[in-house]
Amino acid sequence: MKSIVIVAFDGLQPAQVTLNLMPNLARFAADGVTFTNNHAVFPTVTRINAASMVTGMHPGRHGLTANTLVVRDFDPYLAFSALEPTLAQLAQKTGRVLLQPTLADILSGHGQEYVAVVTGTSGNAYVHNPRAEQSGGATIHPEFCLPYSLHDEIVGRFGVWPESGVTNADKLVRGTDIATQYVWPERKPAVSFVWFSEPDHAQHAHGVGSEVASKAIGEADEQFGRLLSHLDGDTDVFVISDHGYSTVKDAIDIEAEVRQAGFPAGDQPGGVVVAPNGGSALFYTHQSDRDTTDRLAQWLMGQPWCGALMASEAVAGIAGTVPASVAGMQGERTPELAMSFRWDSEVNEAGFAGHAFSTSLGPGQGQHGSMSRHETHNVLFARGPSFKQELTIDNPTGNIDLAPTILRILGLSGGEGMDGRVLAEALRDGPDAASVQWRTDTHEAQRDVDGGTYRQYVKVSSVGSTTYVDEGLGWVE
Ligand SMILES: [Zn+2]
Repeated sequence: MKSIVIVAFDGLQPAQVTLNLMPNLARFAADGVTFTNNHAVFPTVTRINAASMVTGMHPGRHGLTANTLVVRDFDPYLAFSALEPTLAQLAQKTGRVLLQPTLADILSGHGQEYVAVVTGTSGNAYVHNPRAEQSGGATIHPEFCLPYSLHDEIVGRFGVWPESGVTNADKLVRGTDIATQYVWPERKPAVSFVWFSEPDHAQHAHGVGSEVASKAIGEADEQFGRLLSHLDGDTDVFVISDHGYSTVKDAIDIEAEVRQAGFPAGDQPGGVVVAPNGGSALFYTHQSDRDTTDRLAQWLMGQPWCGALMASEAVAGIAGTVPASVAGMQGERTPELAMSFRWDSEVNEAGFAGHAFSTSLGPGQGQHGSMSRHETHNVLFARGPSFKQELTIDNPTGNIDLAPTILRILGLSGGEGMDGRVLAEALRDGPDAASVQWRTDTHEAQRDVDGGTYRQYVKVSSVGSTTYVDEGLGWVE
């Protein structure tokens, strides 16, 4: 049986994969396939991108709409952070965390295992395999494991996990130990995922391109080198990041702004539940009321920090909005409105392009979550016996393509109905990359607001029925 390993560097941008910063990854990339046009899903936050990687679906369909979200059949007026144990409570009350099967569920149906080692947040770990107690496989995280009973065994054998320091190096070392000494030799899973929480952790606190971030990238690359040294030539390896990054332009207390504008709390008639998500924010209006949503949309469009603004099918046709379906957000948990903050391509003091407004942190720190092209574009590389060698592919690809491509390599069914596509042009027996047809469409909308006309666009590339959000921006002129 073939085996596949995925390694994620949280928040890594293509410009950071250099021989100087990341010698192990740069050499790996040069030998294998480099995807130069890979895409995160929107909002460009971690947990929903992890969910998209393991389900092959956009957030609209897998149902983890954002890191902070409302699930109305859980609590219609509560914006909660998707972390453990809240996710376990969501599972208990509604029966579902994700609305679609994960790789772990699908592999389990074929008698195979999926094992993840995740050093990010507990929510990031949880969404890799929410049904592990039923489907088998495992997720290993510093605070807990799924199945829960595994945690004591891991801690008993490897010790209590180290705390986070200025960088997360100690946790990455431990995660690498667990992958190479326990997961691979003993579990022998068909698919394993090692998620490094850097450079995200360092970039949030210290900024993109900061000395601390560079140190964290080097440390993560060193652990990647250790992982590679334990693999033989029979293993296919993907390297991916969940999203790109921006530098914070300014912080906006989005909930306070909404209340000041006269919209009461979400459980009141005419009220709004606000879910802040770094570079974006979601808005759930009381009973999906159309008039409230329309007034909120018009007010948002007039704000100096409002970028692209999407509306759900429940309130379709609100002037100036773009349908949520364009951005892959339409589904049973879609908020009435989803806003990306405004962004630009201004260069920060370390030379990295991309600034954006944010719901948290402060100027100079790092953030993501918006529809900036600097955040929607992330890294993807692949190397191994199933892949072509020394190839660069410029076709649009995305995090949603990981699961269907993995299932194709393993020769297993289950990826057919996914939003993502099989990256056949990267496979040894696949077609020429230049033969893949793709296109880019721009969706535009506008509306007169106080101070002028709000205009926005959302740019989407597609290959067949698979879509990728390139960028989206709004402004008043
Ligand atoms: Zn992330």
